Amino acid sequence: EDGERLQKVLARAGMGSRRACEELIAQGRVDVNGETVLEQGRRVDPVKDEIKVDGLTVATQSYLFFALNKPAGVVSTMEDPEGRQCLGDYVTNRETRLFHVGRLDTETEGIILLTNHGELAHRLTHPKYGVTKTYLAAIQGPLPRDLGKTLAKGVELEDGWARADSFKVISNLGKNYLVEVTLHEGRKHIVRRLLAEVGFPVDKLVRTAFGPITLGDQKSGWLRRLTNPEVGTLM
Ligand code: URA
Repeated sequence: EDGERLQKVLARAGMGSRRACEELIAQGRVDVNGETVLEQGRRVDPVKDEIKVDGLTVATQSYLFFALNKPAGVVSTMEDPEGRQCLGDYVTNRETRLFHVGRLDTETEGIILLTNHGELAHRLTHPKYGVTKTYLAAIQGPLPRDLGKTLAKGVELEDGWARADSFKVISNLGKNYLVEVTLHEGRKHIVRRLLAEVGFPVDKLVRTAFGPITLGDQKSGWLRRLTNPEVGTLM
């Protein structure tokens, strides 16, 4: 049979437990395409049918959001005609078409979001939206004291100015420094170019957060489903 049971769709959309959603239906509070549905188990299409509870449309699209910890050496595309390692190789659920939210350089590791919400994927990468990204970069010291200030003021690159929102030394072992840079723009190679321009070419780069979504201790090459609260912060 086509579609899904109405109470299941309602429950997934956050309208309460399946039992509570059956109650909503029994009470005549649920409309499908303008018609009140009283029968339990009516099958609906969560994408095409308009479902209302108490006259308000319920967002029933089941959007999927994942965070992948992209390993180095993986290209930021869902498929690669040349057969190189790509994001799609890390996705097991291939029933829905997933979009990657922006890109990481092949050599850069870390968090990259994947979603079937194409419009949001696009919006999140738009400079106007201004999502803050956080990176850990390995560079060689010694570092000048005012490096953070310099980066915050902005540095002129060949395609215009770039600036960091924040800069912080996380640790150092002799000359080997680990620094954290946050910025909200997404030009190609921006962190590598920014640090190279001020004299510190990056040896290794990891993105540890995309907006409010953090990598935490997620292992390299692992994909995790975002939690509902995390998804909420993106919408
Ligand atoms: N800046 C870079 O240099 N590389 C990335 O992958 C992302 C930001």
